[in-house]
Amino acid sequence: MLRVVVLGAAAGGGVPQWNCGCPICRRARTAPELRSTQASIALSADGEHWYLVNASPDLRQQLIATPQLHPKAGQLRHSPISGVILTNGEIDAVAGLLSMREGSPFTIYAHEKVLSILKANSIFDVLSGKNVRRQAIEADKAFEPMLPDGAPSGIEILPFAVPGKSAWYLEGRAHPGGDDGTGDTLGLRIGDKATGRYFYFLAACAGVTDDLKSRLNGAPLIFFDGTVWRDDELIAAGLSNKTGQGMGHIAMSGDGGAIASLAGLDIGRKMFLHINNSNPALLSDSAERKMAERAGWQIPADGMEITL
Ligand SMILES: [Zn+2]
Repeated sequence: MLRVVVLGAAAGGGVPQWNCGCPICRRARTAPELRSTQASIALSADGEHWYLVNASPDLRQQLIATPQLHPKAGQLRHSPISGVILTNGEIDAVAGLLSMREGSPFTIYAHEKVLSILKANSIFDVLSGKNVRRQAIEADKAFEPMLPDGAPSGIEILPFAVPGKSAWYLEGRAHPGGDDGTGDTLGLRIGDKATGRYFYFLAACAGVTDDLKSRLNGAPLIFFDGTVWRDDELIAAGLSNKTGQGMGHIAMSGDGGAIASLAGLDIGRKMFLHINNSNPALLSDSAERKMAERAGWQIPADGMEITL
């Protein structure tokens, strides 16, 4: 049985974002149900050992709010977190690692390109290699994360390349892992070896290819990039000069958007994740939310647990 907890559903900055006065952030300051922390999930096959997919800057708050991830009763130092799988090197995916620096052992699983970013930033050396192993993962090569004692976890993860960009803070700079090849943005197929049940995680995806459609068809559950409703939404709101595509994210709506592109596929549950605070689908009474829901999509609340 796979257990999945949505630790956070928001894009970088969260909802509300510290410096944002947009209508949704303003409303979220007085409406707790609208608030959301930055995107990450936790998953477990045995209910005892957990893996995070991405470590958001809100990780500390997310761990406090998630009893499954609290230290075991009676232990002076303990964490149920056995590993962190990184799908990209953005700040909202890696900064939470710095909150895991107090000596508990775990493994970071990431593509060489993302590991090279961590290696090039000496602040991440605070996670000493003695306690925190780094394991390179490759596109199209399934791996099984380990339990702390080296035993297999019973979880099989298949990373694969999806259209995307490298981290925005590397724009115009030399990538520490080289500028060639894929690996900056991975999607994951995560399965329980015992039951064969599985789901997909794609918190960043710039476009839906035919290959991606055939992967996702038949999946019991997907988490999919829901950053913006419209590609030009940040520009239209006067918040930024960037389009969704310019940031490596597909829009929810429109002809080439996620809703239209994945319509007609056989997918059990469709969840948007990594939702920016500018996205009107966050508002439960908005026309955009109703359109997303009519198309079978859900906007998960932080803390939602799903069992597969
Ligand atoms: Zn805002």
